[in-house]
Amino acid sequence: MTEMVRKITLSRAVRTMQDLFPLEYNFYPRSWILPEEFPLFVAELDHYIHTPLAKQLPIAVSTTGADGIWRDGRWVFSQPVPQVRMMKDSDPSWKPTFIVKPDGGCQGDGIYLIKDPSDIRLTGSIQSRPAVVQEYICKPLLVDKLKFDIRLYVLLKSLEPLEIYIAKDGLSRFCTEPYQEPTLKNLHQVFMHLTNYSLNIHSGNFIHSDNVNTGSKRTFSSILCRLSSRGADVKKLWSDIISLVIKTIIALTPELKVYYQSDIPAGKPGPTCFQILGFDILLMKNLKPMLLEVNANPSMRIEHEQELSPGVFENVPSPVDEEVKVAVIRDTLRLVDPQKKKRKDVQCQTLEHVSEANEELLDAGPADRREYGTTKSPEAGLPSLCLKQVFPKYAKQFNYLRLVDRVAALFIRFLGVKGTTKLGPTGFRTFVRNCKLSNSNFSMASVDILYIDITRRWNSMGIDHKESGMCLQAFVEAFFCLAQKKYKSLPLHEQVKSLIDFCEYHLAALDEKRLVCGRGIVERRSAVVPCQTDGLHLTPAAHTPLLNRTATATKFADYRNHRY
Ligand code: ADP
Repeated sequence: MTEMVRKITLSRAVRTMQDLFPLEYNFYPRSWILPEEFPLFVAELDHYIHTPLAKQLPIAVSTTGADGIWRDGRWVFSQPVPQVRMMKDSDPSWKPTFIVKPDGGCQGDGIYLIKDPSDIRLTGSIQSRPAVVQEYICKPLLVDKLKFDIRLYVLLKSLEPLEIYIAKDGLSRFCTEPYQEPTLKNLHQVFMHLTNYSLNIHSGNFIHSDNVNTGSKRTFSSILCRLSSRGADVKKLWSDIISLVIKTIIALTPELKVYYQSDIPAGKPGPTCFQILGFDILLMKNLKPMLLEVNANPSMRIEHEQELSPGVFENVPSPVDEEVKVAVIRDTLRLVDPQKKKRKDVQCQTLEHVSEANEELLDAGPADRREYGTTKSPEAGLPSLCLKQVFPKYAKQFNYLRLVDRVAALFIRFLGVKGTTKLGPTGFRTFVRNCKLSNSNFSMASVDILYIDITRRWNSMGIDHKESGMCLQAFVEAFFCLAQKKYKSLPLHEQVKSLIDFCEYHLAALDEKRLVCGRGIVERRSAVVPCQTDGLHLTPAAHTPLLNRTATATKFADYRNHRY
C-alpha cells in the first residue's frame, strides 16, 4: 500500500482511469511525472500559452471551478467557463500555477509552486528524487479567508471482496495566512498555500483550540455545519466525497492485488489484511472535492507538543484529534476483530444492521444515536459506529469502473509462478494464444515485438529493477493497445471492456475443456488422456463463472467471425 500511494504511482493509477473514464475521474488535478514527462509538460504548457485564445481551452482551467476533463490533448467542459476566459482576456499576463511534489515526500517536504517550467529544479536531485508536477487549484473554498484541506479516514477492510468504510467525521487543517490567488510575489508563502499541519504549526498564527469549531485544526463536521447554515448542499458534497473515495480505491486495487497474490498464495487460509488510509481532499470554491493525496500511514496522534518555556516541550491532549481518531480506531477494531469472524453470522449481521440504522439516524442528535447504540447493539455501552460502509453498499453504481481490475485478473492468471509481480515473454505469449488474440493480421512475431517494446519502455522508467519482465501497468498498456486494434471505432472503455469479455470467454471455454478432459481421465481411469495443457494453473477466469457460460456463449457467438 505504501508503494501504491506514492505520488507517482497514485498519479499513474488515476491517469489510467482518466484515460478510460475521463469524466468520472476529473477529481484529480492533471499531473505530469518528472523527469520523464518534463518535455510533455513543457509542450502542453507552451500550447496553452501560445495558441490564440479563440483556438484553445486553458489547461489549468479544470482547477478553477469548471467541471472539465482532459481529452485528446485539451480540456473539454460539461459547461462553459466564461469567468476564466474573461480573466485571461482582461489580463494577458495571467499564467497558470503548478505545484511540484517530490515522489514519496510527506508533510509538505520539498513542495514548491511554479509559474514557469524553467523554475522546476530539474538539476541534481530530481534524477535521484523523481517528482510530480500538478495543476495548482487556485480557487479553493475559504473559511475565515483561510485555505484548508480535509483529512478523511477510510478503512479498506478487504480487497477481495472489496469492502470500504468511510469515517463520518474527519479533520480540517487550516493555513495560517489569509489566502490570495498565486502571484509571483506570494508563490513562496507556505503558510498561505500549503495546509500541512507540520508546516503551519511553526507559524506564529497557529491556534490550538479545545473547541472543534475553531482554531487551525477543526472537525470536518464543524465545517459542514457552517456550510449548511449558509445554504450549501452538504448531502451532495458528501456523496461527491464518497464517490471520490470509491473511485480512487478502484484505481488502486488492480496493482494491490498483484502485490497481494505475490505475498499471500491464493486458496490458502492466510492472514487477513486491512488498512486505514488518510485521504487528503481540497474543496474548490464551487464545493467540488479534489483529491490531493492518499496516505497509507496516517498519523493517529491525539496529542500535540506545547512549548512550556523556551526549549521545554510537553505533550498535551488535542480534543479535535481525539474526537475523530479514537472513533476510527475503535470502529476499525470492531469491524476487523477476528474473534467476531469466528462467531460470524448473528453478531456481524446485527452490527451491520446497527450500522445501517445509525446511518439513518445521522441527522438525529448524538443523544439519540447513543441511545440506539446502547439498546440495540450487541456491543452495548460502546458509542455508535462512525465508519460507514460505502462498498459493496454502492457497488452497483461503481462496478462498471472496475475494468482494470479484470485486466489485472488476467495478468495474475498468466503470471504463473507464485511470488512474482512481472510477466515473462512466455506468459504473455500464452495469454495471447489462450485468448485467441493472434491471427493472420497479428502474428506471434508482432506479439513478441509488442511485449519487448512496452516492457523495455516501462523498465527504463526505473520503477522496479528487482524483477525483470512486464509489470501490470505495461500489461495494461499492451492490453489497451490490443483493444484499440481490435475494436477500432468504439470509445476506449468500450474497446477495453469488449476485449476483456472476449478474453474471459475464451479462457472460460478453455477451463471447461480442461474440466471435461479431467473428468474423462477420472471416468475412464486411464493413465494418459491427450489434453491440451500449457502449464498454467487452472483457476477459472475471475468474472466468468462456469455456470454462466451458456449466456456468455450466446453473447459471443459473433466474436468467432471477428478478425483483426
Ligand atoms: P504532502 O504529502 O507532502 O503533504 P500533498 O500532496 O498533500 O503533499 O501537498 C501538500 C499541501 O499542498 C496540501 O496539503 C495542499 O494544501 C497543497 N496542495 C497540494 N496539491 C495541491 C494542488 N494541486 N492544488 C492546490 N494545493 C495543493
